[in-house]
Amino acid sequence: MNQSNKPANQKNEKFKRDGARYICIKCKAKFFTREDVEKCFDAHDANTPPNP
Ligand SMILES: [Zn+2]
Repeated sequence: MNQSNKPANQKNEKFKRDGARYICIKCKAKFFTREDVEKCFDAHDANTPPNP
C-alpha cells in the first residue's frame, strides 16, 4: 500500500472509528474509507491556523 509520509510527533487523531466507518473528529461526518476521512480532516486543517 502507498503510505504518505507523516510527522512522527503527530498525536492528534483525524478520525474516530464507528464500526466499519470513519468519523471526522472535526465535523463528525462519516466515511467508509480512511482516505476520505483524512481528506475531510485535511480540508478543515487548511482553513484553520496550526495550533502550537
Ligand atoms: Zn470533516
